[in-house]
Amino acid sequence: MKNTEVCIMKIHEAVSLFPYNTFRIDAKARYFSTFSNVDELSELTTHDSRLTTLVLGGGSNILFIKDYDGLILKNEIKGIELQHEDVDSVYVKAGAGENWHQFVLYCIDHNWAGVENLSLIPGNVGAAPIQNIGAYGVELDDVFWSLEAFHLQEKKIHTFTETDCGFDYRDSIFKNRYKNEFAILSVTFRLKKKPVFHTNYGAITEELEKIGVKELSIKAVSQAVINIRNSKLPDPNTIPNAGSFFKNPEVPTDKYEELKSKLPDIIAYPLAKGTVKLAAAWMIEQCGWKGYRKGDAGCHAKQALVLVNYGHAKGNEIYDLSEEILQSVKNKFGITLEREVNII
Ligand SMILES: Cc1cc2nc3c(=O)[nH]c(=O)nc-3n(C[C@H](O)[C@H](O)[C@H](O)COP(=O)(O)OP(=O)(O)OC[C@H]3O[C@@H](n4cnc5c(N)ncnc54)[C@H](O)[C@@H]3O)c2cc1C
Repeated sequence: MKNTEVCIMKIHEAVSLFPYNTFRIDAKARYFSTFSNVDELSELTTHDSRLTTLVLGGGSNILFIKDYDGLILKNEIKGIELQHEDVDSVYVKAGAGENWHQFVLYCIDHNWAGVENLSLIPGNVGAAPIQNIGAYGVELDDVFWSLEAFHLQEKKIHTFTETDCGFDYRDSIFKNRYKNEFAILSVTFRLKKKPVFHTNYGAITEELEKIGVKELSIKAVSQAVINIRNSKLPDPNTIPNAGSFFKNPEVPTDKYEELKSKLPDIIAYPLAKGTVKLAAAWMIEQCGWKGYRKGDAGCHAKQALVLVNYGHAKGNEIYDLSEEILQSVKNKFGITLEREVNII
């Protein structure tokens, strides 16, 4: 590495990534460091440009299938700041290294509405725009205003508006055209002063009734979402995982009609743009994978979309299982699932 002698930031060698990914895969990074501001990041990236660099957040959407032969930079930029406000909205800027759920709770404490349905999603603020995180009828792009990102080669800060980001279902420009080119430094959100509640999705209404909520509030919606998530999803601290491993595939209406005529129970959601989203979990379950375990790699018993590490699974064992699942869904339904988790 060029310039490491003059670099004040400490770069560690051969670092185990075990604590830095929720799948608890014990891969190694050839080089590893953290940064908590753009100057540190700039200094850390003053190296031979042939060395690949990966910016890491909370490691909750990543599967390391081998050692990483490059530099991993863990983003620890903190800070939450009210930038300005107008009649209806507040504009809140959060450092990319803030924990997402802590940010959600901070917004709820300040009565800023819009992110309550996204409670308890693991990971950090900086990764949220990358796959346009979503849950319970809300996606990040519903509350997104802008972001600042550092170009790792040019070493310049760029500002991206919503249009620049090309948000789509679990997708943005940072997952394709600009993959691994930028480190997101901060995200600015436009949040509402008066909440608009989204309670029709999933079991939110039932949960609100169950916990005896008389008057709807963003705090109550957040609590309902937290309760539902805790009852359905495996906690990565107990059973390591990275949430939904596959995306729900979108198909044209005629393909859906064809499937429906053969499989009347198929679970699907029509989309406003005229396509249909199929429930990947249902298809995986129909192929008999739910609760399957091979060695320490498995498909969770309650949620077929979630692949898990029961102990000492290697990244490639989880990957191989995902490949088998993908093939069987393709054979049975003629649909090719796409992985949501980043394979590194
Ligand atoms: C139990 C569980 C439940 C989940 N539920 C949901 C859900 O409901 N909805 C949902 O959308 N997701 C869900 N996820 C997935 C995950 O929480 C999100 O994708 C989250 O945004 C990942 O954040 P992270 O900081 O952990 O990202 P990481 O895993 O660290 O990184 C993910 C990708 O983003 C890149 N990256 C991270 N930070 C930066 C940055 N600052 N700049 C540039 N690139 C960066 C990484 O290089 C990598 O490619 C779930 C995961 C788990 C484990």
